[in-house]
Amino acid sequence: MKVIVDRDLCEANGICVGIAPDVFELDDEDQLHILAAEVADDRLGDVEDAVAQCPKAALKLL
Ligand code: SF4
Repeated sequence: MKVIVDRDLCEANGICVGIAPDVFELDDEDQLHILAAEVADDRLGDVEDAVAQCPKAALKLL
């Protein structure tokens, strides 16, 4: 599966980074980067949690 971010919705609060720091990263300008867009099977649980807990619903799994 693949995870994407809608940058218009993301408010850079870092919740997803806290859940899966190997997948999501915020830079110095509060831009979210997805380090591993193709989600490995063993990281899917945490990425699903990040998608569910994003308060802006900015993350999607495809
Ligand atoms: S949890 Fe959502 S709003 Fe927060 S940094 Fe991640 S994508 Fe952006």
